[in-house]
Amino acid sequence: MGTMFQEDKTMEVKKVRTLLRVSSKQQLHEDDIPLQREETKSYIAKHQDWIFDMEYIEKAVSAYKNGVEDREVLMQIKEDAENKEFDILLTYMTDRIGRREEYSFYISELYKAGIEVWTVKDGKIKNDEHTDSLITYIRFWQNEEESRKLGKRVRDALIDQVEKGKFVGGKAPYGYRLVETSEKDSHKRNRHKMEIVEKQAEVVRKIYDLYIHQGYGYEKIAKELNREGIPAVSADKWKNGTICSILKNPIYMGFYSIHRRERGKNFKRLDRKEWILSKEQVKDIVIVPQSDWEKAQEIRESRKSHLEEKKRKTLALYEEQYSAPFNPRGKLSLLGIAYCGYCGKRLKSAGYNNRWVTKDGTEKVSCIGRYGCQEKCAERSYYSQDFLESVVFEVVENYLERLKEVNISDELNEMKKQKMLHVEKEQKRIAKETDKKTRDIKTLEDALPEAFRGESGITVERLSRMIGEKEKELAELEQDRLRLQEQIEQANITYDEFSKFIDIAPDWRQVFKEADIPTKRMLLASLIERIDVKDEDISIKFRIRIEDFKKHSDEDEKILETIGSGTIRYKPGSR
Ligand SMILES: [Zn+2]
Repeated sequence: MGTMFQEDKTMEVKKVRTLLRVSSKQQLHEDDIPLQREETKSYIAKHQDWIFDMEYIEKAVSAYKNGVEDREVLMQIKEDAENKEFDILLTYMTDRIGRREEYSFYISELYKAGIEVWTVKDGKIKNDEHTDSLITYIRFWQNEEESRKLGKRVRDALIDQVEKGKFVGGKAPYGYRLVETSEKDSHKRNRHKMEIVEKQAEVVRKIYDLYIHQGYGYEKIAKELNREGIPAVSADKWKNGTICSILKNPIYMGFYSIHRRERGKNFKRLDRKEWILSKEQVKDIVIVPQSDWEKAQEIRESRKSHLEEKKRKTLALYEEQYSAPFNPRGKLSLLGIAYCGYCGKRLKSAGYNNRWVTKDGTEKVSCIGRYGCQEKCAERSYYSQDFLESVVFEVVENYLERLKEVNISDELNEMKKQKMLHVEKEQKRIAKETDKKTRDIKTLEDALPEAFRGESGITVERLSRMIGEKEKELAELEQDRLRLQEQIEQANITYDEFSKFIDIAPDWRQVFKEADIPTKRMLLASLIERIDVKDEDISIKFRIRIEDFKKHSDEDEKILETIGSGTIRYKPGSR
């Protein structure tokens, strides 16, 4: 029990701090903080040497913004941990902290500071640092660097290690495994190094070969590997993104690297000249010759301009389809689909010029992008472009990532088929009912002459009334039929539009991220039906409900749940 730091003072009382969090899902119904507080308190009571110190509360963090580095409370805890302000961090559940890989890194940081992490559900959390990915590691410290000096020191040390051709931690990329060496690190743990897994290395070589010699693209390579039944890296199937990252990673030509991506507003890929690579090739990790790797980069670059061409085509198609409502020259991407949640009117551009004078006396002007309600609703009528777009883009990027994981064309066809099956059934029912009602009316009408002659047990008035009722029902059925017809047409338009864009831009997420505003707007309009903005409560209604894509792993479950029925709500207070 205990960590190295506490072994000799087990009799001492341990200060426990709790981390309580309102998950965005639960917040829909009620605040579950009291429950968590109760649970953590009674858990603490079960340990004689524990004493409650204080609690950290994290307000709802959207499912799309739960990276450890985005969460101030977690950063605060880490800082307090480093200042040795407490001994144990207790949370209600493990998933209260963050995404799996980031979270394990975070935990290992707390352990390094001498803090134990416990959860009410699972007890003491293991410090398993080798499950983090290198990317996470770097991302974490890159962010740190922005606000804390500490990060820079660690990062400098990392750069130094990378340049020396040393493994700096994290998960082994595909094609490699980690093996322990006898060398110790600063925390007295055995260092690890990477070793080639020959069977996987063969697959890597195959990927490079298909790419540089056979002219295959990412998707075709993924398909080929799946067809051959080669086990994929982590998911059940090879995906474009995995192929792409294998083709880009300089590790395969024997160079460790960091600083290949930058964490900013977007998760931007850095230009090659910004990368930090090992100074010399590390011979025993080479899987493909350096010349092959370079060749793959050349091809990638030339295909990228091809993608640009596709984007232009997409734009042309957009202009053809949505000629009127969107002005491709405007700066705001959400015009036309964003509505004021109070009055229901479309939000308009309401930018203003910001003027200021610099130190040397020159006057500067910049245009601040803003969305505004035409009715100037009292509750709130202005939203900065930065705020609204960053929320929407973040949600859309996540949505696109989900989309990428399913075979959309097949799924779309399947969805369409299911929808049509349902529609056909409904059509048959309506036809059958209509037929029955028509026959009923005929029978009643046939009885009329007899009634007129007073030869029937039923009066003319009663018969007429019955006929009238049947005719009314018949008219309602006709309405149903027309409504259904409209639904079919609407569905066809949505599906067709969707498939068309999918054909043009297979890598949606990438296209979206790199797109200029008109393209972004086109993609948004094809994806989103409308966005209702009510102060910080933002609902995004997608044309295609993502949960219609049935295939998803357990891991997706959490995110999908928060997505709801085609509408994603951004939770106030989550940024
Ligand atoms: Zn309004």
